[in-house]
Amino acid sequence: MYTIDRDPLLLTPGPLTTSLRTKQAMLHDWGSWDAAFNCMTAEVCRQLVDVVHGAGTHVCVPLQGSGTFAVEATLGTLVPRDGKVLVPNNGAYCARILKILTYLGREAVELRFAEDQPADPAAIEAALLADPGITHVAQVHCETGTGILNPLADISAVVARLGRGLIIDAMSSFAAIEIDARTVPFDALIAASGKCLEGVPGMGFVIVRQSILEASAGRCHSLAMDLLDQWVYMQKTTQWRFTPPTHVVAALHEALAQFHEEGGLAARSTRYGANCAALIEGMRGIGLKPFLPPALQSNIIVTFHAPKHPRYDFTAFYQGVRDRGFILYPGKLTQVDTFRVGCIGALTPNDISQVVHAVASTLCEMGVPVLP
Ligand SMILES: *Cc1c(COP(=O)(O)O)cnc(C)c1O
Repeated sequence: MYTIDRDPLLLTPGPLTTSLRTKQAMLHDWGSWDAAFNCMTAEVCRQLVDVVHGAGTHVCVPLQGSGTFAVEATLGTLVPRDGKVLVPNNGAYCARILKILTYLGREAVELRFAEDQPADPAAIEAALLADPGITHVAQVHCETGTGILNPLADISAVVARLGRGLIIDAMSSFAAIEIDARTVPFDALIAASGKCLEGVPGMGFVIVRQSILEASAGRCHSLAMDLLDQWVYMQKTTQWRFTPPTHVVAALHEALAQFHEEGGLAARSTRYGANCAALIEGMRGIGLKPFLPPALQSNIIVTFHAPKHPRYDFTAFYQGVRDRGFILYPGKLTQVDTFRVGCIGALTPNDISQVVHAVASTLCEMGVPVLP
């Protein structure tokens, strides 16, 4: 079969499809001591703080690695060794936070919710009142395992009122769903280069309240993961501690320029909303139903029930859609057979309609009936 050498579109929650400009920004080499590169880092950090209106209260600490590295670094740096973290758990990324805390030897209290239930601020309040030993709450904003959006503003208000620290995993929502540090107080918020900012993967970053960061000396178990050490070094020298992910920073710098040109968070949120609506409507049209009800569904990623048919098989389905130029994502649910489709990345509703077409044609080819 004749195939064209063209990248497939990534319908995944990171890595995701990036623009040509973002890719082209990586066609240079930079020295880690070079002023031009270090200016670029500083400018990226300043813009990242501005996305959540944190200037004057919060600072940005970038960290080499994927998003999980930054989550682990934040928990290790901010939570004292005798601290205790409440983790509202309604999905895979919440569960990952619990696993990290186990590795770090920090005490955790799990507050379980079903995977189709948002974290409940009243239940969080009750858990905090019941246990004054809890020092922090670690909350995933958009739980990418399903696409469910947790009520961050209400949770933040409860945590602030009860005087505990809030650590937010906003990895898949940052820059696409509004978070305002002036009205939604938090100690730290974690995100990464390769999600809604549409950069390439390779660095995480933490927007952290400066006073909280400065008070965290001596807590971290790990040199490489110590956010305070990273920040202090960067303040002093303008350089990254240890080899920086130079190409990732350059791509993120260019991706941020396009984010602003598009119209910032409001415009990106509108585009992802249009992608998500086109996806759900198109998939419904061929008989595929989303796992979450509309009220809980974020615009970031949609979990769909897999067709209940003996000829359906995810591996063959994935490959068929892949052959048509699109990359889907497996489901992360244990109870129900699902698959996921991301709405984020350099994509428009026009691309989404082609994804739906590829899904329908693949299912037809597999002998799995679809609605006309
Ligand atoms: C992507 C993501 C992460 C980080 O995952 P990595 O694979 O380490 O990049 C963490 N939390 C959420 C909610 C995410 O979507």
